[in-house]
Amino acid sequence: MCNAMSPWEKAVDFHGHICPGLAIGYRAAMEAMRRLKQERAGDEEVVAIVETDACGVDAVQVITGCTFGKGNFFFRDVGKQAFSFGVRGKEEGVRIVLKHGVMEKLAAPEWKALREKVFGKTATAGEQNQFQEFHKELTDKILNEPLENIMEVNAMQMDFPPHARIFDTVECAFCREGVMEPRARLKQSKPACPDCV
Ligand SMILES: [Zn+2]
Ligand SMILES: [Zn+2]
Repeated sequence: MCNAMSPWEKAVDFHGHICPGLAIGYRAAMEAMRRLKQERAGDEEVVAIVETDACGVDAVQVITGCTFGKGNFFFRDVGKQAFSFGVRGKEEGVRIVLKHGVMEKLAAPEWKALREKVFGKTATAGEQNQFQEFHKELTDKILNEPLENIMEVNAMQMDFPPHARIFDTVECAFCREGVMEPRARLKQSKPACPDCV
């Protein structure tokens, strides 16, 4: 079978739609891989730390191969369009941040007001279409803009979260569901899951 999908198409396929947020994560991840490839010997494990849970993190997972399930993808919940990447065993990593105000600068002037209407569910069908048009245009701009115009790239010292660990599962005495042992608590001297304590 011929697999001719580009990395961007793979990201769109995984994410489910084309949007500016996905393009942000894509640009950050592509830049990180370009940099890490130069320094990486063989198949050392890449680790990603994302500071947002918005659309862009899907591109990061597809492009870097770091995933939530593999334990080399971490979410620091601070609400920033910032993405850090490193290689296990090396302290030097890179943090890539979307410059503040870039979206507004690149977008059509009406984009922000329209976005509020669309997300507030008050947009007419015509406004919806117009918004989709702007949304697509903005995505293209983010994909094609020189990186230094839209993102700040800085070397950083990586503080790696620990490797994924394996735990036994115990049965919650109250709901009868299995729960990772370290998450279980005792209630009436019986193991209880976080939902039942
Ligand atoms: Zn999206
Ligand atoms: Zn339970």
